[in-house]
Amino acid sequence: MEEELINTKNTALSFILEAKGERELEEIRLQFLGKSGKLTLTIKGIAKLPIEKRPEIGVLANDVKKQIEDALGRKLEELLSQTTINCDIDQTDPGIPSPIGHLHPTTQVLNETIDIFKTIGFQVADGPEIETDYYNFEALNIPKDHPSRDTQQTLFLDTRNTNITPGEIILRTQTSAMQGRIMEKIKPPLRVIVPGKVYRYEQVDASHGFEFWQLEGFMIDKNVTLTDLFGTLTYFLKQLFGEDTKVRFTCHNFPFVEPGVEAYMSCSVCKGKGCGFCKKTGWVEVLGAGMIHPNVLKTAKIDPKEWQGFAFGTGFSRIIALTYQINDLRTLTNPDVRVLKQF
Ligand SMILES: [Zn+2]
Repeated sequence: MEEELINTKNTALSFILEAKGERELEEIRLQFLGKSGKLTLTIKGIAKLPIEKRPEIGVLANDVKKQIEDALGRKLEELLSQTTINCDIDQTDPGIPSPIGHLHPTTQVLNETIDIFKTIGFQVADGPEIETDYYNFEALNIPKDHPSRDTQQTLFLDTRNTNITPGEIILRTQTSAMQGRIMEKIKPPLRVIVPGKVYRYEQVDASHGFEFWQLEGFMIDKNVTLTDLFGTLTYFLKQLFGEDTKVRFTCHNFPFVEPGVEAYMSCSVCKGKGCGFCKKTGWVEVLGAGMIHPNVLKTAKIDPKEWQGFAFGTGFSRIIALTYQINDLRTLTNPDVRVLKQF
């Protein structure tokens, strides 16, 4: 038994010395110290020895076990330190770059638009998305029974259990709601743009959303004419979409302007040749505009005989879609990073 233990120890130590890797070392451990390992079985055999021999052999067996365990430990340390040394690390090598985000396409076009209007003297204003019926409609020459209210499916806030008349508090349907608020506070001359979100009760599809961006702009000064409006809008569209963009205006009726126009620009997707986005016409409607109705000025206590102004409003989401040639407005509210990475 004594000899067997010595042999086991020597074999184990020489195996450990030769071991080339962690896995091999683990195999050696199991071979000797595992449940049915060589040393384990020998130790179990001690019980069968004559009782007077057991203590002496027991001490030896424990010593052998400890020596094997120590050798395994030392070898493992050695192997691990070698792994680190052999590992081919170039400490001057640049690391893996962390992904960096960028501004959302809406913000990118918004910033560009603000810059364009700033160069021609416009200020930027922000306003509440929860609005009163007065500023959203009445102050804009759209009384309660006006048929144009039907074209702006309004979302109303629940004012039950309050003393507010039902229907008076709404989610704004147009950024034009800020016209009255600004005209009341700031006296002309003034040039302002109001970018912001608006809400309508709409069936959502590729070209409609219940929540979308608008850009409102207006200028009030002395001797402002329709040609100032045409010049401003043409300048804006050419700056944003390129010098070769063509702009044309047609007559249109909006209650808060007189006369009213709609602006079309040559389709930026097909460069005016005709495609699915522009319904083969080569033109895309981008803005509603006109000379501010005298009633709107009077409501804000501005004398229409002294001051005139123009106003325009655009479905800004459509401008963004045209900038990036996106054919579905829902892309702009898609939070999927794979989608946003493309812009
Ligand atoms: Zn087109």
